[in-house]
Amino acid sequence: MTGAPAPVTPVTMASPLRPASYAWEATDEEVAERFGLDPSTVVRFDLNTNPFPPESAIRRLSEGSYDRPISEYPPSDYRRLVAAAATTYGVERNEILVAAGADEVLDLCAKAFLAEGRAAVIPGPTYAMFRVLTEQRGATVRAVTRRGPAEGFAIDVPAVREAARGAALVWLASPNNPTGLPEPNGTIELLLDGLTADTRAEPGGSPFVVLDEAYVEFVGRSLVALRHRYERLVVVRTASKAYGLAGLRVGFALAVRATIVRIEPYRPPGSVAVPSIAAVTEALPDIATLTRTVDRIATERARLASGLDALGWPAWPSATNFLLVPFGSAATAADIAERLLARGLVPRTFPADHPLADHLRITVRAPEDDDRLLAALADVGDSR
Ligand code: PMP
Repeated sequence: MTGAPAPVTPVTMASPLRPASYAWEATDEEVAERFGLDPSTVVRFDLNTNPFPPESAIRRLSEGSYDRPISEYPPSDYRRLVAAAATTYGVERNEILVAAGADEVLDLCAKAFLAEGRAAVIPGPTYAMFRVLTEQRGATVRAVTRRGPAEGFAIDVPAVREAARGAALVWLASPNNPTGLPEPNGTIELLLDGLTADTRAEPGGSPFVVLDEAYVEFVGRSLVALRHRYERLVVVRTASKAYGLAGLRVGFALAVRATIVRIEPYRPPGSVAVPSIAAVTEALPDIATLTRTVDRIATERARLASGLDALGWPAWPSATNFLLVPFGSAATAADIAERLLARGLVPRTFPADHPLADHLRITVRAPEDDDRLLAALADVGDSR
């Protein structure tokens, strides 16, 4: 690489306990500025969004017809949205908590279940926010390594059970980000039964388990029914991924009432905006549109994966809207990321000390954007 410009300065968020513990991704404008590009040509392959929002939501927003005027606050019980979510997710209305995206749900869970000096178990590599939120609470991370790619990056149940002794919280994601697959059938059930057996006699009871199902619509099999088998289970859902509505910021916690009641005191009364409530209420029950989008992304994922294969960079199997691609070494991954960025194509990179530092994560986008990425990778491959 010649004349490499200085790295993009990440926008950082300082936690009171650990300054700059999490680096937000560079914005389109920052990437464009650094490489002298038009910001409108920048394509995000790093955020796992889905470029196909439902027509019904777009229409509702363009008509501006909401339950109440935007001069007023949203109803603090989000009544119509909760009713739609109850039907779609198959839970009671009082088993739902609404928040501004899954990220706010995770934040509220951290506030409700963690405290200084307590511990949270994180089977990783996984969603970066689990660690950030744990550290923000002053709690300790107990990291447990997942199995390798040959075993679909599945969690190591005995190791997680061991680490969970005396822990306040276990963070899980299925399908997992950034590895792209759900846990094998029966794994989470096995873990929850194990946690019950291990902690039955403990004074504080079993740990809370947050199961982040942000990508579950891509595999179609939610484990929300397990909340009855393990009452401290919180299942997290979102409108951001398969529903294609990340910009609206709507997420849900699903749990038995007794567990929802533990989280509720930490919830702001109106963090979800009036237009977001209206559009997501409309989109949630429209399963036909959701299914079409999921099929469309699965088809495009297969096409992108075979394009990567043809270039000699096969991705690991994925059930989601993103692919995890090994590049052989951290230096190669960083070099390729840099060259893609210079073309306005933004992959997800991993820090040098991350177990996936030799990988890039690539969101499946619209065919024309994915073609731009494949062409750029072919070009990058040729010039290396
Ligand atoms: N959980 C996981 C596993 C994710 O990948 C993401 C998206 N980056 C989120 C939660 C956040 O989703 P939301 O847009 O609903 O806040």
